[in-house]
Amino acid sequence: MEDWKYRKRRAALVEQIQSKGITDERVLAAVGSVPRHLFVDDALASRAYLDEALPIGLQQTISQPFTVAYQTEKLELERGDTVLEIGTGSGYQAAVLCELGVKVYSIERLKPLYDRTKDLLRKLGYRITMKYGDGTEGWSTFAPYDGIVVTAGATDLPLQLLDQLRPPEGDRRGGRLLIPIGTRDSQVMTRFERMPDGSFDRIDLEDFRFVPLLPGDG
Ligand code: SAH
Repeated sequence: MEDWKYRKRRAALVEQIQSKGITDERVLAAVGSVPRHLFVDDALASRAYLDEALPIGLQQTISQPFTVAYQTEKLELERGDTVLEIGTGSGYQAAVLCELGVKVYSIERLKPLYDRTKDLLRKLGYRITMKYGDGTEGWSTFAPYDGIVVTAGATDLPLQLLDQLRPPEGDRRGGRLLIPIGTRDSQVMTRFERMPDGSFDRIDLEDFRFVPLLPGDG
């Protein structure tokens, strides 16, 4: 199928997630420009602009576009910010973040996905610094981050991630962490923001269902 057909479908997807409550124009524009059909297997390309998660192999999924937009919006990023993603998967969320003009770091626990996605992102021209490893430890080398986004469901909060959020300074806000926390079947999207007094403001948002965050030892 020619690209203009995908463009039309992508525009319809943007309208759909907008009707579901995404309002940030920059996030909508980012979803409107990332070719999601290239982040799934060819056999699934025709479903790429439906608002649904799709399998990407190894029991993992590319997140639903609404979920990607939701997490991205709630990170409240500015151009030039630094973001860490836990769970690169297909690379789609990382590409959407990249479109916002932020510097993206991303960690993936499964080697075959890491290898495949690293190649794809390079081929598509997305500059993302990737690491193969356990994201629950964060990535202290490039900390602090303005945003950390966990794209797999956690049973509890990995405290190291809070440590890697930027402390507020001058007119620069403290870093935000978006993480789904709960059981295997359902997680509450939870948002933490680092405050000037060193504490973390916590807000419990809506329920989601992610694939489980894998433990460090596999
Ligand atoms: N953001 C991805 C979503 C992929 S699903 C996308 O846009 O496609 C979640 C991903 O998290 C899977 O690829 C899974 O392998 C990865 N993952 C699970 N546990 C992890 C961990 N501890 N560290 C890093 N990645 C992890």
